[in-house]
Amino acid sequence: MGLDLIHGVDWKMNSANARRYRASADVRFVRIGDYIDPIVEAIATHDMIVERRGGIHHILSPFGNATFEVCQGGFKLTVEATDPRGINHLKHALAGPIGFIAARERLEIQWEGDVTESALPDDLRILRVTSIEDLSPRFRRIAFKGENLERYDRADQLHCRLIFQPRGIAEPLWPMLDHRGCIVWPENTAVPTRVYTIRRIDVARKEIVIDFALHANAGPATRWAMDARTGDVVGILGPAANGSKPAKFQVLAGDETALPGIARILESLPRDAVGHAFIELDSKADELPLTCPAGVMVHWLHRDGAAAGTTTLLPDAVRSIRWPENLDDVFFWGGCEHTAFSAIYRHLRNGVALPRDSFVLYSHWHRSLSEEQIIARGAEAYLPHQSQ
Ligand SMILES: Cc1cc2nc3c(=O)[nH]c(=O)nc-3n(C[C@H](O)[C@H](O)[C@H](O)COP(=O)(O)OP(=O)(O)OC[C@H]3O[C@@H](n4cnc5c(N)ncnc54)[C@H](O)[C@@H]3O)c2cc1C
Repeated sequence: MGLDLIHGVDWKMNSANARRYRASADVRFVRIGDYIDPIVEAIATHDMIVERRGGIHHILSPFGNATFEVCQGGFKLTVEATDPRGINHLKHALAGPIGFIAARERLEIQWEGDVTESALPDDLRILRVTSIEDLSPRFRRIAFKGENLERYDRADQLHCRLIFQPRGIAEPLWPMLDHRGCIVWPENTAVPTRVYTIRRIDVARKEIVIDFALHANAGPATRWAMDARTGDVVGILGPAANGSKPAKFQVLAGDETALPGIARILESLPRDAVGHAFIELDSKADELPLTCPAGVMVHWLHRDGAAAGTTTLLPDAVRSIRWPENLDDVFFWGGCEHTAFSAIYRHLRNGVALPRDSFVLYSHWHRSLSEEQIIARGAEAYLPHQSQ
């Protein structure tokens, strides 16, 4: 399928088409109780509203609605949409987080009901590289242009998945979502994909900007960024993952991979916001100019040659914060390597007793695993460790 065909698709649901597509799945899995909270959280992270009513999680999305109910010995899923692509998307929005968080259980989800054809994900947009700028020794900014980017212009959904096409390929390879909600690639040929933060978006100019932290031991995304040229093609899926929420006292913390998100959030804070931003980098040479309210103190933490993901700089910095006595007007946002992420998560929950809805914190990478290996391991490589 060519790029123009994808651009030409009307992604909105056809209101004249009154047909509703429905499917359901009953899955036997007695230990669902061990996984339910992180699964529901992961579903909500992907731009879905999850409401718990009468013991059932109701999931609302632009693509349609779903339910997730824990029952005797397992769980039941239902999905309903007015568009065949919407129902595949919803199945994926459920089956994806379940399969990832409970990866070691190798659950089989068998759907019953309407069967729809494999289709491109509704959220897929095609981008072309328009400029490449080295901001510092380890940061490369790449700007892209694309059509119909409105859905990505969200302060509450900062992240996206990039699909890196090999240069010179005759026909780009795009993932399809099948009737099981699974990703299938044409001719079984997958191209690499990775998660990045939208540093800046300007819908009118059709532009998205991503800041790539170039790390040693480069995987496919970093190699792609190091080799990028204008005209190169990537796909984008999303958006996902939460941004900051309004609060007077803001704390932001992360390593290079979170600097794009921290910079974007700092720019959006009201002028009277107060708090701290802690940013771990290799050295001063990678510090980037930031626009932020005068009351938010920026602390650059330098590893000074230590390998990324091996220091306790970030957890130590978060432990040093003097939090307001009343935590009602506090928000924390952060992202970093999995070990530091786990330590910070435990401190926020057990030390500070910050309510779960007062912070957004993601494990952005794992110091000994590529993204494919994280996905294969699931919860243990992504959720916080209870102890080190
Ligand atoms: C929500 C979210 C938002 C993110 N936003 C950004 C962003 O805006 N900019 C950005 O640069 N990254 C961002 N990341 C991190 C990025 O997705 C990972 O660093 C990714 O693994 C890089 O892919 P890769 O192909 O280069 O390496 P992979 O193939 O995934 O890994 C190869 C090797 O590199 C190591 N590695 C991976 N990442 C790093 C790193 N950052 N530093 C040192 N070693 C590493 C791994 O441990 C592995 O050994 C984000 C991640 C998440 C989950």
